[in-house]
Amino acid sequence: MAADLLILGARIPDGRLVDVRVGAGRITAVGPDLAAEPATEVLDAGGKALLPGLIDSHLHLDKTLMGERWVPLPEAPDLAGRMAASDRVLTAQDRRPTEERATALVRSALAFGTTALRSHVDVKPSIGLSALEAVLAVRERCAGLVDIQIVAFPQDGVLRAPGTDELLDEALALGADVLGGIDPGGFDGDVEGHLRVLFRLAASHDVGLDIHLHDIGHLGGFELERIAAWTVAEGFQGRVAVSHAFAIGELPPTDAARLIERLAQAGVTIVTNGPGHRATPPVTQLWEAGVRVAVGSDNVHDAWWPWGRADMLERTFLVSYRGALRTDRELLRALDSATLAGAGLLGLGPYGIVPGARADLVLVDAECAPEAVAAHPPRLAMIKAGRIVAREGVLVDAAGV
Ligand SMILES: [Zn+2]
Repeated sequence: MAADLLILGARIPDGRLVDVRVGAGRITAVGPDLAAEPATEVLDAGGKALLPGLIDSHLHLDKTLMGERWVPLPEAPDLAGRMAASDRVLTAQDRRPTEERATALVRSALAFGTTALRSHVDVKPSIGLSALEAVLAVRERCAGLVDIQIVAFPQDGVLRAPGTDELLDEALALGADVLGGIDPGGFDGDVEGHLRVLFRLAASHDVGLDIHLHDIGHLGGFELERIAAWTVAEGFQGRVAVSHAFAIGELPPTDAARLIERLAQAGVTIVTNGPGHRATPPVTQLWEAGVRVAVGSDNVHDAWWPWGRADMLERTFLVSYRGALRTDRELLRALDSATLAGAGLLGLGPYGIVPGARADLVLVDAECAPEAVAAHPPRLAMIKAGRIVAREGVLVDAAGV
């Protein structure tokens, strides 16, 4: 049967030089000499590195200022100040609508080879569900180009912002896929109270959780222990993620090892962005204990952070740099976190460059996958469900977004 797409001579992460055949949006064959049968479209990889589509497991589509003229980061002394500054920036009179800004960020992510992403979206009394409605529209507009999973994110807290629990309930009914949380102790002031609301809501909507945890030191460690305990008690193993979790990287080694063991037993995923200003979760220890580690950009050119363009190879480079992941084996593990682990977190089903997996792929101007991470060079082609969506870092016209 004629393939929809035939990729010739690609170096896949296990080191083999192969051809890849794609039909009906899925990989049908991977191996040498698959060119004999016809194909509708042929992509000559020229021996370059072909990777599974990159998965951004933590973005904030609603907050970005992409597509605007450059907006300087506002000065703000503390967290409350930054929250207020972000609100000011996003509600400025000349600000473009959320849907346009979010789409600009999605376009950038796509051009860099991101084929699926998880975006936290603010749900809070001051704006209600307006950001969520905008990102839901973006998800619809981009269907078929990138899978977008949405986390209803209580940026202003749950307990300290009365009415937020009802809004989160509505957000999940409206189409958010996952429930978010934020620093149950350090920000919301009541670890058990915060987690009680989250797990009750998540259970009633049958959704997973993804909790922002910036709290450091022993408070952060304690919160992680409580999240693991709640996860097991409520039967949520495999459905809870903690984003950032800086605290694990700061604890004394024996405390960290014990905590990591609990996270592994509870099937809690850690999502990291390899930030420069904090301790990062010790990814090697987490991997070795069997904890799933996914990678995300977090804020991209917004009032919180000025950096980046949602380039997930650059992000994986940063995670490998911060984690001193130097060998090919370690660089490949980092890549797995930005591809296969993300697919597991987002529940995408079979993933990778194997028959039966969805044909979400990115061709990189590198000799091999470790070089793709270490150098994060230009993307040559991005393929979504067997269709070439971007070439040389530019979306093709047919992409239609
Ligand atoms: Zn975030």
